[in-house]
Amino acid sequence: MSEWSPDIARLQAREDQEWLRVERAYCGRLLAYAHRRTGDRQAAEDVVQETLLGAVRGIGDFDPIFTFEQYLFGICKNRTIDHLRRRKARTLQLPEEDDGPQPIENLARETETPSAIVRGRELSDRAQELYAQILREWVEETWKEREFLRLCVIEALFATGWRNREVWKRFDLRDETAVAGIKFRALKRLRQLAAVRESGNDLLRYLAAVEEGDERLFDFDLSRLWRDKRVSCPARHWIARLVAGTLEKDAELFIKFHLDEMHCSYCQANRDDLSRRGEEAELELLIERLRESTRRYLRSRGPDPVG
Ligand SMILES: [Zn+2]
Repeated sequence: MSEWSPDIARLQAREDQEWLRVERAYCGRLLAYAHRRTGDRQAAEDVVQETLLGAVRGIGDFDPIFTFEQYLFGICKNRTIDHLRRRKARTLQLPEEDDGPQPIENLARETETPSAIVRGRELSDRAQELYAQILREWVEETWKEREFLRLCVIEALFATGWRNREVWKRFDLRDETAVAGIKFRALKRLRQLAAVRESGNDLLRYLAAVEEGDERLFDFDLSRLWRDKRVSCPARHWIARLVAGTLEKDAELFIKFHLDEMHCSYCQANRDDLSRRGEEAELELLIERLRESTRRYLRSRGPDPVG
């Protein structure tokens, strides 16, 4: 299964056909995402429709630093939150701050964010963006080397703040110092990657502080960055191979961990979509509906679609 992504210039030119291909390619995974979060099929369909319209409206400002899928999921996440807020407003008996079903570790994380304890120095937006890029580079390198255990360990430490001890037990490592060693080497490599890009900036100071064990001097939530920027998310074809049962064992270790223990909602949506059986007809109806609403919007706004 090859990873199709649309021609952004054609989307920006409001070409009907390209938008139709987008609906076909992405509607299933968006629906799966919204369905998981809302627990309501009808609501999920509405969210997907709003997401596609939002994507059409916003495409002029598309930032190529993101993939198109990230762009869509970003909108879908916001529309889902809007929906859950409206629902919460309607049903007053819901507890405060309930944004619907959330992965357990998100709830746990809320209470132990270092910034709640120490108010430290902020890491600038620019430094955070750079850090996300460098983390992605590190993940890609590690992936190419097929060091999937190392990837699991770092994801556990960085994305959810597991303690060394928990990581050691989960992955049957020699001892806790093995975990510390993996972290130490990863940090060193991250610092090298950062130094290639810049010198003496915020990010390097932050990484140095982390190596010294002083990261709490900074008011910065690494796990949020790791998740929001989807630093470690495998491409969809990897998830397709997991579903088909054709994935190599070493890669499976990481991808299953990412899905089932790190609870990445975007990748879970892709898996739900790829595992769908016997729902093609229903999905076809939704695509029809999306097509209508997108077309209406394109006609009302842009130049006449070509062809
Ligand atoms: Zn993911």
